[in-house]
Amino acid sequence: MEAQVNKETCIGCGRCVTTSPEVFRMFKRKSAIRTDADYSMTNYVEMAAKNCPSKSISVNVVTPAADPD
Ligand code: SF4
Repeated sequence: MEAQVNKETCIGCGRCVTTSPEVFRMFKRKSAIRTDADYSMTNYVEMAAKNCPSKSISVNVVTPAADPD
């Protein structure tokens, strides 16, 4: 899993940081992804994206490569 924030549309409400502080932090009044982001709380990351009022968060679920058998 990987999240991204669109800084152009983020309104800096901080809701994502409240919901998923392991992944998001505030930087210069905008949301940013922590350099040490911990994605283990998957549900909260998805909830943060879903509840973002400006729809500025995108979440990619990285699926493991198929077993080459
Ligand atoms: S919830 Fe959305 S608008 Fe609010 S700070 Fe996070 S990314 Fe920005």
